[in-house]
Amino acid sequence: MRIGIDLGGTKIEGIAIADEGVERLRRRIPAPRHNYQATLSAITGLVADIEREIRARGSVGVGIPGAISPATGLVKNANSTWLIGQPLADDLQRLLGRPVRLANDANCFALSEATDGAAAGAPSVFGVIIGTGTGGGLVVNGRVVTGANAIAGEWGHNPLPARRDDERPGPKCYCGRRGCVETFLSGPALARDFAQHGGDTATAEEIARRAAAGDPLSCETLARYEDRMARALGTIINVIDPDVIVLGGGLSNIDRLYENVPKLWAPYVFSDCVITRLVRAKHGDSSGVRGAAWLWE
Ligand SMILES: [Zn+2]
Repeated sequence: MRIGIDLGGTKIEGIAIADEGVERLRRRIPAPRHNYQATLSAITGLVADIEREIRARGSVGVGIPGAISPATGLVKNANSTWLIGQPLADDLQRLLGRPVRLANDANCFALSEATDGAAAGAPSVFGVIIGTGTGGGLVVNGRVVTGANAIAGEWGHNPLPARRDDERPGPKCYCGRRGCVETFLSGPALARDFAQHGGDTATAEEIARRAAAGDPLSCETLARYEDRMARALGTIINVIDPDVIVLGGGLSNIDRLYENVPKLWAPYVFSDCVITRLVRAKHGDSSGVRGAAWLWE
């Protein structure tokens, strides 16, 4: 039995899946905020609850909103800031009395979709989560590529490629730079772009709905968005050349992306033809927790 834990900013989800990927049980609890010790207790308690229920001991994989620094073994790059600098992997292994695998939540997403999701069987898969941010993860031959700095797949803080005059220097990003991919492709970025081009304060979801109904201003906003996504993914294709790019997160529900973006990325890819597939996640919001379980092959 594999147990997967998805440690989010507001909730912790746990799942037990059997060998063939069948979900046996799922639990969701609120995530303690700003309290590392309480976070440890919540995770170990959740694993104990799941094992009591399924009457079996499982392997444990944990998806975290950050990464374990290869240099220090401590959590870094976490937007749940109370985890930063903590020995989360060591503490969980000690408390659970077994080896525990941890990975960035976007890496877990990519692993889930590569294992038995929308990219099942593909040799190389780039998974992208586009919602409040723009995370990414890379899976090659069924395994997460973590990278020397544990940042493989973190395309969101690359500068948007081939920026037009009106995209320079670009919006300020929380990482300290300007014009990051995330400042153009996240949900809030889409809403900001709409407002800057004469729209109201509609959310990304509402803009997508209006575009589907034919509203010209919303259609123009999505066309700009698609062109930017094509440029950003074009550089990914040049470097990684994945078989499949899987989109997850709230903005992955915009149907037209799957048709339009691949039509636009050719000029940015160094190849006479591009057969990379752009697909929507199969497991939706469950991919994080499923991928955490799959960290154990
Ligand atoms: Zn940034």
